[in-house]
Amino acid sequence: GQCVAVCPTGALTEINNIGKLWRLLHDDSKHVIVQTAPAIRVAIGEEFGFEAGTDLTGKMVTALKNLGFDRVFDTNFAADLTVMEEANEFANRLKNGGKLPILTSCCPSWVNFMEQQFPDMLDIPSTCKSPHEMFGTIAKTYYAKKMNINPEDIVVVSVMPCVAKKYESARPELMNEGKKDVDVVITTRELAIMLKEAGISFDLLEEDEFDNIMGESSGAGAIFGSTGGVIEATVRTAYEWLTGQPLGYMEFTELRGIRGIKTTEIDINGRLIRIAVANGLGNTRRLLDKIRKGEEHFDAIEVMACPGGCIGGAGQPYHYGDLTILRKRAEGIYKVDRDKNIRKAHENPMIKKLYDEFLESPGSEKAEELLHTSYRPKPRL
Ligand code: SF4
Repeated sequence: GQCVAVCPTGALTEINNIGKLWRLLHDDSKHVIVQTAPAIRVAIGEEFGFEAGTDLTGKMVTALKNLGFDRVFDTNFAADLTVMEEANEFANRLKNGGKLPILTSCCPSWVNFMEQQFPDMLDIPSTCKSPHEMFGTIAKTYYAKKMNINPEDIVVVSVMPCVAKKYESARPELMNEGKKDVDVVITTRELAIMLKEAGISFDLLEEDEFDNIMGESSGAGAIFGSTGGVIEATVRTAYEWLTGQPLGYMEFTELRGIRGIKTTEIDINGRLIRIAVANGLGNTRRLLDKIRKGEEHFDAIEVMACPGGCIGGAGQPYHYGDLTILRKRAEGIYKVDRDKNIRKAHENPMIKKLYDEFLESPGSEKAEELLHTSYRPKPRL
């Protein structure tokens, strides 16, 4: 059953979707596709005896194919898409004197918190949907069309580190004519349970690659899983768009790590852009209170409800407060980024193709309609 509780990470509203998913996987009339969040690949191994932070991307893909998914895709691809839309929004606000700071919007616990506790500031978050929601929308429009499949027959499954993602897909603001773009969300732990039920063990699996057209990603998409990563990925792109120059360095180390508030400054066309990362909702409240009073100014702020970001999400293998485990998962994520030839979202060829063939350009009418959302004040629970 579902209980409603005042739990910032949504851990107390967890609904078990395993039975439903097994049924869907055995339903031949459905085209069941799966996407995995950036944080899954570096944590799922812990359920099977691997060290925290071990990158199991290739084996995870094989495992999901063995479970019976029709296609195995990557939320990292959609994270790249989020970067395109968010960097465009940020660049526009900077150029046109728009409202600043822009706040990231991919964490549903944070979005909930904001709607309940900062109803007077709902014009500052980015309007971007979260990556897995963007994925769901693209799957049921562009992908459905390309594959010649009725969107009604496509089932989008998200494997998420996050329990809050389960209710996110049912937000009225994210429904499309009463239908969800993401049909089923399971957590990392639930995926581990399913693999164990199916007798699939990582040791014996070969490595495979994600399917296309929604499987290719840059290093920018990868780092969404760790605190500071969303804003770092966004700045990598926004900087190049605004200056027309390649970014000299790629890694914003000041924005990484488990500290409560992290800040940095970056020169964009002679203007010093101030960036902050708020790790956890207590730190976010303190930071937003100061901004509301005019005591602090920032141009962009990333907010993640879970300490450490999504690698520390409530759907991940339990870490029992052991920060070493979170650090190792973060190292795993940053290694995925470093190992990529392409580390900026706007250089991802499949993202370019998606805009060329379908979305036109970031912030286009179509992109606004499909990839952006809205917020409204909600009663405090
Ligand atoms: Fe979910 Fe990530 Fe937000 Fe935690 S930080 S609630 S895992 S989206």
